Amino acid sequence: MPIGNVIRGTRVGSAPDRRAQRHQPAPCRTVTYWCRNAHRTEIRLAAEVEVPQVWDCPRCGLPAGRDAQNPPGRARPEPYKTHLAYVKERRTAEEGEAILAEALAALRRRRGRPAG
Ligand SMILES: [Zn+2]
Repeated sequence: MPIGNVIRGTRVGSAPDRRAQRHQPAPCRTVTYWCRNAHRTEIRLAAEVEVPQVWDCPRCGLPAGRDAQNPPGRARPEPYKTHLAYVKERRTAEEGEAILAEALAALRRRRGRPAG
């Protein structure tokens, strides 16, 4: 008698798949950052993840902060500085302009034109 097939058929779907119940989306939150170039960046973080204070702007690479009026990169020291940043620290803007004017004057002298 083929009674074994009948019994097997009644069991289909009788056991609930518990794994399916765990696949709910993790709770997320959206965090907004602004960089000095006023780029607005929104990232989604899992609820249990600590919100970072600084996020690298994906558009220009500058550090972006959560305060739109006070983006990071000026007040707090940065671990990475460009060569230009070091030059600006060593020289004031006025000194820089004087050096530039001097260089231009030298350039004009070499070209045989009066400075200024
Ligand atoms: Zn940016």
